[in-house]
Amino acid sequence: MEILATQSLSFAYPNATTNALKEINIEVQQGEFVVLCGPSGSGKSTLLRLFKPEIAPHGKKEGSLSFQGKPLEELDPIVRAKEIGMVFQDPENQIAMDNVMEELIFGMENLGFTTEQMRKKIAEMVNFFGLNHLLNKKTDELSGGQKQIINLAAVLLLEPTVLLLDEPTAQLDPIAAKEFIHMLQRLNDEFGLTIVIVEHRLEELFPVASRVILLENGKLLHDMPPREMVREL
Ligand code: ADP
Ligand code: ADP
Repeated sequence: MEILATQSLSFAYPNATTNALKEINIEVQQGEFVVLCGPSGSGKSTLLRLFKPEIAPHGKKEGSLSFQGKPLEELDPIVRAKEIGMVFQDPENQIAMDNVMEELIFGMENLGFTTEQMRKKIAEMVNFFGLNHLLNKKTDELSGGQKQIINLAAVLLLEPTVLLLDEPTAQLDPIAAKEFIHMLQRLNDEFGLTIVIVEHRLEELFPVASRVILLENGKLLHDMPPREMVREL
């Protein structure tokens, strides 16, 4: 089943002389683990953010984006925000609450989960991620890596259909980055969670990825399994 797609998507920032994205056609199927890579300024963040209209950049858009075959703008904004989860580069920016438990509950409360549902889901999540030792902490006591895991857990508690990540390990040390990527691998392997990630740590991601999309100057240069990509690079 097709989860995300773009149809001849172009995007220009206001006053920019060239398009940040140029007629991009991609399709992401259920259960895929897609790595979006390319040099700085190639359009990776722009592409990812256009799938989150509430935080998408302003500019001139041509072509379209879809979720499960439906144009993105036809979806209910609340459903869309829940179904398309996102983790950002800066672990600080995404943390909203003073302590870990509140952080995990926050999004679920907004979506109207019952107390019983929240209790059950948090217990499962804590078990899966081994988060017990963090539950009673204040969020500002956490390391960058721990913050990113909490951000990830809080997004997953909303049961997204697809998870987008924009350089989530850029500010983590190599060990924390490895652990984070290992979590993503488990989510993909064990739950079939569909993942699209912008990342520079390709040595860690190529063994995990099902597909690699390479952008250059806003154009889609390659879209292929990592094994074939290694031969191209
Ligand atoms: P990354 O490469 O990690 O996506 P960048 O360093 O390219 O991040 O951009 C950081 C921030 O600066 C982003 O919010 C981006 O929108 C903004 N930015 C990048 N390029 C420009 C530009 N030419 N004009 C204005 N803002 C920009
Ligand atoms: P990447 O994530 O691959 O580093 P971006 O999507 O951040 O690339 O940027 C793609 C292009 O758009 C770059 O040329 C960048 O300078 C430009 N850009 C990014 N953000 C802005 C912005 N807020 N205003 C103007 N130009 C921007």
